[in-house]
Amino acid sequence: MREEPAAPPSVTRLLSWGRYPRVAHQRVHMPAWNDQVPEILRAATPGSLLPYGLGRSYGDSCLNGGRELIDCRRLNRMLGFDESTGMLRCESGVSISDIIDVFLPKGWFPPVTPGTQFVTVGGAIANDVHGKNHHCAGTFGAHVRQIALHRSNDGLVICNSKIDSDMLRATIGGLGLTGVIAWADIQLKRVTGPWIDAEAIPFQSLKTFLDLSHDSESNDRFEYTVAWLDCFAGRDPRGIFFRGNHAADHGAGQEKDFRRKRALKLPFALPGWMLNRYSMKAFNSLYYRTHAASKGPALTPYDSFFYPLDSIRQWNLLYGKQGFLQYQCVIPETNLEAFAELLDRVARSGMGSFLGVLKQFGPAPPAGMLSFPRPGLTLALDFAMRGERTLQLMQSLDEVVRQCGGALYPAKDARMSPSMFEASFPGWRSFVPYIDPKLSSSFWRRVTEAG
Ligand SMILES: Cc1cc2nc3c(=O)[nH]c(=O)nc-3n(C[C@H](O)[C@H](O)[C@H](O)COP(=O)(O)OP(=O)(O)OC[C@H]3O[C@@H](n4cnc5c(N)ncnc54)[C@H](O)[C@@H]3O)c2cc1C
Repeated sequence: MREEPAAPPSVTRLLSWGRYPRVAHQRVHMPAWNDQVPEILRAATPGSLLPYGLGRSYGDSCLNGGRELIDCRRLNRMLGFDESTGMLRCESGVSISDIIDVFLPKGWFPPVTPGTQFVTVGGAIANDVHGKNHHCAGTFGAHVRQIALHRSNDGLVICNSKIDSDMLRATIGGLGLTGVIAWADIQLKRVTGPWIDAEAIPFQSLKTFLDLSHDSESNDRFEYTVAWLDCFAGRDPRGIFFRGNHAADHGAGQEKDFRRKRALKLPFALPGWMLNRYSMKAFNSLYYRTHAASKGPALTPYDSFFYPLDSIRQWNLLYGKQGFLQYQCVIPETNLEAFAELLDRVARSGMGSFLGVLKQFGPAPPAGMLSFPRPGLTLALDFAMRGERTLQLMQSLDEVVRQCGGALYPAKDARMSPSMFEASFPGWRSFVPYIDPKLSSSFWRRVTEAG
């Protein structure tokens, strides 16, 4: 694996969510206005820059070891909103959380949201993120109508379905490599308020999970579905299936009762020994029993339903100083044996994860050239970084994913090999002409073996 320069403490300020790998950046640009971006691009040497959002990617797709980042968080202005259609124009550093704060009180919500609201619009487009509604709404990119992209050679390029549509498809899921997104037009969705009619259903086998997912009850009647999985349970896991819809208007009284939860904060990295097979097994068991006991429908605030992890700020410090890796794959549903094999390998390794998340992707065609979601089951597992042992387990999971024609998600990756990337995205070479010559990333250099 290509080694990026290790980080001296003074320049590690910008990490990814997994806090692994820890690479040094030579410089971080922080433009406050979009008209500062062209000069940053002009002055850069080829392959030296990468845009950065809120660093919620787990591995190195938002890092540019030994080179420079453009931190886009100050490009966070709402530029326009059409109250009659829900079309929002905003700068790329606006976060999903900002959108909810401003537009939920007006009855609008992001069309697709990942499991944290602390991602920027630029990051959501560049990874073409998916949410609990993939089976009926596709990915975030499917709701982006137009973007303006700073390109080092071509200036500010406007892309939509009629003008430069290929550049739009390259930028959606384009890992920040096609240019710096200045602003985007996003179609928000109408909702009646902050509440979700949610339901938790315990299940005891993969087959029951699939029955629940396929069940016309879930896929047709529920906009949001996802499951949590006890990955210590082996080939046939137990878990909790969550499903929900935006609640119909429950009256003005309930609007008033709604309070966004205050998040607790983990102040420092916990010692590594606190996370071991026994504590994680106990957590998984407790989580299952708690939700199984409270099964059934409940009116739930949107933040508890969509973003349970956001209730502990910096929860990534739970995994200690060495950080952690997430493994997210998608597997064709026709190959359930492969899925069972993955879970078996994880259970036998004793390195199971706090959070196993399972979701069925729907049939939506990919919105971007390198979009990750495709029909099948997606599984996401977190592993504390324990050096070679952890990397070997993940390589052994790669074998299973590759054999059944599955793929890995770049936004979560810090270690897949070039051949695993090739197997996951066999068409990646046709994306290369769209890359801006001034841009590159640690991830891209690793998986394409580019210099
Ligand atoms: C708790 C948690 C839950 C998550 N759940 C999900 C989930 O359910 N589904 C899912 O798909 N993902 C999920 N993710 C991953 C996350 O949604 C993505 O990694 C997202 O892209 C992070 O956005 P960011 O703003 O933090 O961008 P960063 O991580 O900083 O960057 C991500 C990419 O965006 C590019 N980028 C950033 N800004 C711009 C810009 N202005 N112009 C061009 N490119 C830009 C970067 O170069 C990089 O390639 C989750 C992450 C966490 C921490």
